Amino acid sequence: GRLPADRAVRAALARVHRRFQADRGGRVADYIPVLAEADPELFGIALAHVGGSVHAVGDADHLFSIQSVSKAFVFALVDQELGHHAVRRRVGVNSTGLPFNSVLAVELNHGSPMNPMVNAGALATTALAPGGSAEERWEFVRRGLSRFAGRELALDERVYASETATNQRNESIARLLDSYGALARDPVATTDLYTRQCSLAVCVRDLAVMGATLANGGVNPLTGERVVDAEVCRDTLAALATAGLYERSGDWLYEVGMPGKSGVSGGIVTVAPGKGSIAVFSPRLDGAGNSVRGQRVTHYLSGALGLNLFAST
Ligand code: GLU
Repeated sequence: GRLPADRAVRAALARVHRRFQADRGGRVADYIPVLAEADPELFGIALAHVGGSVHAVGDADHLFSIQSVSKAFVFALVDQELGHHAVRRRVGVNSTGLPFNSVLAVELNHGSPMNPMVNAGALATTALAPGGSAEERWEFVRRGLSRFAGRELALDERVYASETATNQRNESIARLLDSYGALARDPVATTDLYTRQCSLAVCVRDLAVMGATLANGGVNPLTGERVVDAEVCRDTLAALATAGLYERSGDWLYEVGMPGKSGVSGGIVTVAPGKGSIAVFSPRLDGAGNSVRGQRVTHYLSGALGLNLFAST
């Protein structure tokens, strides 16, 4: 199957934006001080087609920090470098059932990072980024994510500073992993690189193009550049399905039926393999850290556009 025609997609986006415009469910994240300043009313939706068209409605050009949505794309880049078996062995692909920043999950699993979409696994993944210096490893991540987006992405310095000042929990997770020998590099440098990747500024349009690159077997539909191999997309989408929406990933799969990845700044990107990608930005979150309106909008569009992967008709 394909996505419906452009006109039908545009009409569905306009409809869903109107329908959820007044939805005030959830609360803006405040554990990173600068995130608490986000305007809770911001609301943008974008859909990128593997054929290269991008449709957007609402605050589609507003820049926000990518946060945990970066986990999906850094995992893809590292999988491309290390390969299917090595990343699975060194990071894991099972769900933890615990919050994204759980220290307990590491301890309960005897030092296994468990899944690249929770913080422990994302730190273990980021530690595997190649490069001879911290600067080279940062450029590997920044350039790689930029290739997914089809434009040069830059650090949001305020978010980076705010998160660095309040990063005790991620540093603890990195140190605990290191104590188990599960981190390929120094925990302090790894936490810094992870914090940088989370602080890259994107708009919802960027996220849709990034997702559409995964939907398109690794070729960016806007630039035509091959970013990763098709096998890497398959691996990445499997990891998203297990933990892309943290401990609510089962609910998400049950309702939406597609792999997705959320972040605490309010972005969610969802991938319809072979078809395209939906991205939503709305800063109010549920208790697990997922955008409330983002989930509702994606659920609606999954139904309206016939995207649920488990539906046989
Ligand atoms: N940088 C955030 C953290 O590690 C990302 C969390 C998220 O988006 O879920 O706490």
